[in-house]
Amino acid sequence: MNESFEGIVLFKRPYRDLDALVKIFTQNYGTKMFFVKALNKPNHSLNSHTLPLTKHSYIGTINQDSLSFLKEANTLNMYRQVQMDPVIQAYAVYASQLVDAACPDNEPRPEIYQLLSETLNKLDQHIAPEIIIAYIELRLLPEFGTYFNFEHCLYCQTIQGPFDMSIRQMGLLCPRHYHQDSHRMQTDPNAIYILQHLQRLSLEDIQNVSLSPQLLAEIRRLMDAIYDEYVGLRLKSKSYLNQLTKMEQEINKLKNSREKSNKEKAVEKDKTQDEEN
Ligand SMILES: [Zn+2]
Repeated sequence: MNESFEGIVLFKRPYRDLDALVKIFTQNYGTKMFFVKALNKPNHSLNSHTLPLTKHSYIGTINQDSLSFLKEANTLNMYRQVQMDPVIQAYAVYASQLVDAACPDNEPRPEIYQLLSETLNKLDQHIAPEIIIAYIELRLLPEFGTYFNFEHCLYCQTIQGPFDMSIRQMGLLCPRHYHQDSHRMQTDPNAIYILQHLQRLSLEDIQNVSLSPQLLAEIRRLMDAIYDEYVGLRLKSKSYLNQLTKMEQEINKLKNSREKSNKEKAVEKDKTQDEEN
């Protein structure tokens, strides 16, 4: 029986000759694997509707325990910037793999579907990708069975910072209780403040924020520590994203130092001209 449903393409892979398997996060049926006959033939009618990280409304057959099938589709969003910008795409691939890892197949998870859909919207508009990724990581923690306390000090429940973070004890320590964990993160309290804030916000509310690269790196360090310790995923998309962002930082550093040395040269030149005059 044909049904109509909405979905976001997670990935596709070749399967026997020209056929393909396409994994789609459907809004109402959860993540599911679809079989598409001869998809790898040029000009297949579902070509653009099976491109990873795009959103469509489909008509097809949904099977609970075996492969499902696609018949036709209508595009809802191609997320052009996500497709075109390699750095933004790396963020989006990581987000989609994280969601895929968090959701058991064939289980309806409309709120996580909404989360991925909104994440792609934000990334497509180039809105604070580092913050968007930290947001989705925070939001998915309970899906991986981890409850981190960002509300108050683990020992005295005070909401007065400046807080530090204990990975081992899964929460915050106030200055009077820093000593409870000799391996505490020694973090910038502003990074914790931002994570606390993100926990209370809805993704729609996040707009472009200008945070220093140091603060963004600190937020990354905290989220990585939590994920390494309690989630333990080894996603290729994550190491690729790390490489890309490191490269971006190096390029920015180079740019800055070149601008600085150009400025110095200009000052030098002004000086010699002044002296000559
Ligand atoms: Zn305390």
